[in-house]
Amino acid sequence: MATVVIRPEDLAVQKKFADDLTLSYREEAKRRGYEFTYNIRTYGCQLNESDSEKLSGILKSLSFVPGQTDDTDLVVYNTCSIRENARDRLFGNLGLVKAMKRKNPLLIVAVCGCMMKQNENVEKIKKSYPFVDLIFGPQDIHRLPELLFRIRFQQKKVYDVSQTDYIADDLDLPIDRSRKFRALVPIMYGCNNFCTYCIVPFTRGRERSRPFDQIMKEIAGLSSEGYKEILLLGQNVNSYGRDLEGMPDFADLLEACSKVSGIVRVRFMTSHPKDLSDRVIEIIADNPTIEKHLHLPLQSGSDRILTAMNRHYSREQYLRTARLFRSSVPQGTISTDIIVGFPGETQEDFEETLSLMREIRFDSAFTFQYSVRPGTPAAQMTDQIPQEVVTARFSRLLELQNSHCYESNMQVVGTLEEILIEGRSETAPYILSGRTGSNRLINFTLPDDIDLPDGSHLEKGDTFDGDKLEGCLAQVRITGARPYSLEGRWESWNS
Ligand code: SAM
Ligand code: SF4
Repeated sequence: MATVVIRPEDLAVQKKFADDLTLSYREEAKRRGYEFTYNIRTYGCQLNESDSEKLSGILKSLSFVPGQTDDTDLVVYNTCSIRENARDRLFGNLGLVKAMKRKNPLLIVAVCGCMMKQNENVEKIKKSYPFVDLIFGPQDIHRLPELLFRIRFQQKKVYDVSQTDYIADDLDLPIDRSRKFRALVPIMYGCNNFCTYCIVPFTRGRERSRPFDQIMKEIAGLSSEGYKEILLLGQNVNSYGRDLEGMPDFADLLEACSKVSGIVRVRFMTSHPKDLSDRVIEIIADNPTIEKHLHLPLQSGSDRILTAMNRHYSREQYLRTARLFRSSVPQGTISTDIIVGFPGETQEDFEETLSLMREIRFDSAFTFQYSVRPGTPAAQMTDQIPQEVVTARFSRLLELQNSHCYESNMQVVGTLEEILIEGRSETAPYILSGRTGSNRLINFTLPDDIDLPDGSHLEKGDTFDGDKLEGCLAQVRITGARPYSLEGRWESWNS
């Protein structure tokens, strides 16, 4: 795949398509008496969420407004192909869209994202879901005006997944951010690591870092818009900058981000154990605004399996890094990703994963059953593990991890923590939800009679929507622990 920088001229061409389209949509909206609406459904990781924010930004610039799930002019499925179940979910949902399309034949159905980089998925859609109007790839987002233009004025269906690795000039794409206080900031795209189980290098292409100055300019802009938290995103943030002139590295970028005034939390993911430098750990320890949390995917505790996975670190090297983080950032937390049932994983290999978990006692973990990804080297391995063995190992692993999560959360009961509020909790509107500086999730309540940071007053019995407090900082006393969250009581405002 060729790597191509999107030039201002390319964006100017898209702008021309966008102008013509906007005019046409506006005129038709006036005629029919209501706006054009869209609905985006996002599967998978935060990079996909970030892509959806760009899709949404472009659609708004074309005069679309957000619409209801099942009554809209355009529905976009932004897909993920990391595991088989994400694929199954998409095809299940496309079955339902068929009925929507029957009810509203003018509905435009679009499918984009990683799954569209795999030809067999595009072929399946062509054959079994012919009502899909538009297919494009994860690197074609900036071309959305052109693709929609073609659908509106030239052809009924557009299936156009480009094979180019684009470097997008993100500053010029409109972004409709889904949160008021946290901004997702991709710092690089793609991956060069080719872990043998993983589809990402095939769907997202080679590593491309965004220029340092461009990232800093975006973050300065976010700060002036009132954003408090930034989440730097990349498949392996530790290899940031290797493809840039002057080779600024991730440690430089992280440190520079931590100095931007107004940004109170700097988060990042994902770190690769083979590339995480000691300096990054030092910078985390030394800078109060950097989240005291490291997401460090382990995948397996067995050297034999790590080699078969092409991870390029050993169990001992992983342990060294994790121990260094624990000693340098004593209040910090470590989370990880673990795969159970990789081809050839013996009971001994699995026990090594459990023993490493006992040693590090991860504060939280994403645990996965190995899922065969066609086209990856691991899919060709002959020693696939029977499902019943994977299921049994997985439940042992989960049980151990749950006990570690609970033990970790219990350690902070009684302490006072600064919480960045994310809004109301999922369970009740009067319970607030937020995160500590070490990425622990907490649900907490306010006293009955309280002055809010905006100057208003809340009394017992008042109706209250916790989302109003999104982005505020509070001191909260931790009163209880569960495996996946903490409970607490508000003590004072910090902002
Ligand atoms: N780039 C990150 C890294 O190096 O760990 C994460 C990429 S991926 C979106 C997130 C996690 O999905 C991986 O860390 C891995 O544990 C899991 N994963 C990827 N491919 C998988 C597969 N074929 N089966 C099961 N889990 C998988
Ligand atoms: Fe996939 Fe490995 Fe790249 Fe992560 S580092 S995206 S697991 S290939």
